[in-house]
Amino acid sequence: MSLFGADIHTLDDLFVHGLKTIYYAERQIAETLPKMIEMATNPELRAGFEQHLRETENQRVRLEQVFRQHGVEAGETTCPAIDGIIKAANATAADIDDKQVLDAALAFGAQMVEHYEIAQYGTLIAWARELGRNDCAAVLDENLAEEKATDEKLTQLAEARVNRAAGLQTA
Ligand code: FE
Ligand code: FE
Repeated sequence: MSLFGADIHTLDDLFVHGLKTIYYAERQIAETLPKMIEMATNPELRAGFEQHLRETENQRVRLEQVFRQHGVEAGETTCPAIDGIIKAANATAADIDDKQVLDAALAFGAQMVEHYEIAQYGTLIAWARELGRNDCAAVLDENLAEEKATDEKLTQLAEARVNRAAGLQTA
């Protein structure tokens, strides 16, 4: 029994393991975003989550393309890291009654997810290139660009509106 619950011997094995990890994570994120949309009050935050839900669903399709290009069957490997981020965000959200403070927490939780994804895709792209799979790297780079854009949008929205609104709330 190995650390990852899978036999990983080569960089290629590690790359495929990483693909399965992010493929799992994207599904968890796609299942969580509808709940975040429901909880969000700020219309721009909601719209941002709605847009990223559509992007996330398409990112799963792109990952299926990468699996095909690499000649392996698409599959998922449980990722305790994304499970933990989502669990922590849910636990915090459950403890917040004020709508504006909840928005600030949702934006933060979403950014934790994006940073996780940026780390995953950044590394997968580097490994794909190392393995001579520039075709896979190019597709993964499309997902990375969406994660980065989402993260930047969340930063702008949080700093320009959401945090300010939350800061105006008094106990
Ligand atoms: Fe994603
Ligand atoms: Fe994302």
